[in-house]
Amino acid sequence: MTAQILDGRAMGAEIKAELQGEVRRYVQVKGRAPGLEIVRVGGDAASGVYSKAILRVAGDVGISAKLEQLPTITSADELRSMLLHLNNDETTQGIIVQMPLPSHLSQKMVADTVAASKDIDGISPRSAGNLFLGLPSFLPSTAAAVMEILERTHTELAGKRVVILGRSNVVGKPLSMMLLQKNATVTVCHSRTINLPSFTREADVLITAVGQANLIKAEMIRPGAVVIDVGISASPEGGVVGDVDFSSVLQVAGSLTPTPGGVGPLTNVLLLKQCVQAAWNALDVEVSDHSSGRYK
Ligand code: NAP
Repeated sequence: MTAQILDGRAMGAEIKAELQGEVRRYVQVKGRAPGLEIVRVGGDAASGVYSKAILRVAGDVGISAKLEQLPTITSADELRSMLLHLNNDETTQGIIVQMPLPSHLSQKMVADTVAASKDIDGISPRSAGNLFLGLPSFLPSTAAAVMEILERTHTELAGKRVVILGRSNVVGKPLSMMLLQKNATVTVCHSRTINLPSFTREADVLITAVGQANLIKAEMIRPGAVVIDVGISASPEGGVVGDVDFSSVLQVAGSLTPTPGGVGPLTNVLLLKQCVQAAWNALDVEVSDHSSGRYK
């Protein structure tokens, strides 16, 4: 049996079309598009590529996105002031700050400053806390992309054994919380896990976010399992490869995301989906504030 390939590009195109409709509807109600601000400090090459990709997809779906490019010498006070300004700017519904920051700036300060209502990449302690408590929250976009794949492919999660490889704050930990909410039985493995195959072989759904090329071989997979490969490593032949040894696992798994073309194409789209959600949330607050007479 050959696994079904879960095509992230096709799903991304589908979500983009849905978002275009959502943005049109929002514009009809609000009179302007949802606003997204990308803040980038310094000249990290990867974050430059990432920023351009977000701007392009935002343009495609009709979100009004801007890049605030700040010089490397930006002080912590200047960055904080800019973020506080954006928190209060009613044309901005989503804020993302590109990582890595120059070494004199702290990621914690950024996470503590961005308003939870605009934290569309789910980096703030408030967002993480809400997720932990099972309250509505924005998710880190990669974790959101994995959940979207599982949802769109109608993957049954209740009562299923889900094994996650990796416990980072942006992938493994938020996913474990989301999957618990979906009533899966969740195991999180990491670099100190002993006998990794004994866990992976038990998984109905295996999500791997490690960053080691071809770590997962066919003999580590339960026949018929759903395998979501988040990992990205440079391939010696050029391009990128995932954590999964794709050609061998394809013969055992029930379904499998490819790399590239699996989780990757969905992450920006999910970030923008959360931006549109933030815009609707803000509108709901506005409407309820008006109806309670608070701003009359
Ligand atoms: P990270 O912070 O480096 O976390 C990697 C995790 O893998 C850590 O928890 C680590 O354990 C664990 N690990 C390392 N070796 C392991 C092993 N042999 N067995 C089991 N677990 C092991 O990375 P990340 O930010 O979560 O990203 C993970 C991967 O996803 C990277 O390849 C990254 O490039 C990729 N990624 C892809 C996308 C996308 O859009 N597709 C987005 C984000 C990230 P310890 O905690 O014990 O160190």
